[in-house]
Amino acid sequence: MRSATVTATAALGPRLRRVTIRSDAMLGVEIRPAQDVELLLREPSGRRVKRRYTIRHARPGTGELDLDVVLHGEGPGARWGAEARPGDEVEFQGPRGKLELRPAPWHLLVGDESALPAIATIAEALPREQAAVAYVEVQDAADEQPVTGTEVHWLHRGDATPGGVELLAAALAGIAPPAGARAYLMGESRAMIALRAVVEAAGLEHENVFVKGYWNVGRPDRLAGRAPA
Ligand SMILES: Cc1cc2nc3c(=O)[nH]c(=O)nc-3n(C[C@H](O)[C@H](O)[C@H](O)COP(=O)(O)OP(=O)(O)OC[C@H]3O[C@@H](n4cnc5c(N)ncnc54)[C@H](O)[C@@H]3O)c2cc1C
Repeated sequence: MRSATVTATAALGPRLRRVTIRSDAMLGVEIRPAQDVELLLREPSGRRVKRRYTIRHARPGTGELDLDVVLHGEGPGARWGAEARPGDEVEFQGPRGKLELRPAPWHLLVGDESALPAIATIAEALPREQAAVAYVEVQDAADEQPVTGTEVHWLHRGDATPGGVELLAAALAGIAPPAGARAYLMGESRAMIALRAVVEAAGLEHENVFVKGYWNVGRPDRLAGRAPA
């Protein structure tokens, strides 16, 4: 377990807050795209839980990490994201994450707002000659964030419940991936598993599809490496 101090916060939109943490353990540490840290947080009951946040930016010279936290409502992660203040201490493990960017003629990046930091870091890391396209579901235009290195199709769910599959599935049914294309699906666990079938039906090969569950509708903890501490 490593310790960090919150050094800054910033509202990136109505439902996304950047929390910058600094740790001596991160001095000189280079980060790969979509790597994350696992924070050790507390529920109001005092129970300790772990929540993972993608490293949007790392500054090895100062040991700082920017974490972009979705303020979706209730939950220890969302609460920490909303309430973190400079000077707060937080314990963490990591960096973690096994995603490997392999060369491909075309990269498909798919997810919801919890995956925006991962999608942005992957898109920024891809060589210019490798095309990329992203499909990102958010509530509305206020949730859109700047992403360089890829064209982004923003899908607005409006008042629909987050974590559904319909919007993304309808958009992805129309893709025509070239041979050797790769896809990265990151977001609500069951939705991403369902979308694997959609992109494979559209022509992506099974071994070229990376799927990672980031959260679970109505089911905190348990999946995606988020067992209680
Ligand atoms: C590798 C990895 C990287 C991740 N990176 C990020 C990141 O960069 N930014 C980020 O915000 N999250 C990220 N997550 C998700 C994060 O770890 C938490 O799981 C998530 O924020 C929910 O935790 P919580 O404590 O707020 O809510 P929980 O206690 O997990 O859930 C409470 C309630 O809120 C609902 N809920 C949880 N998340 C959402 C959501 N996003 N939208 C709507 N409802 C939700 C649940 O269904 C449940 O009903 C990542 C997860 C993984 C595995």
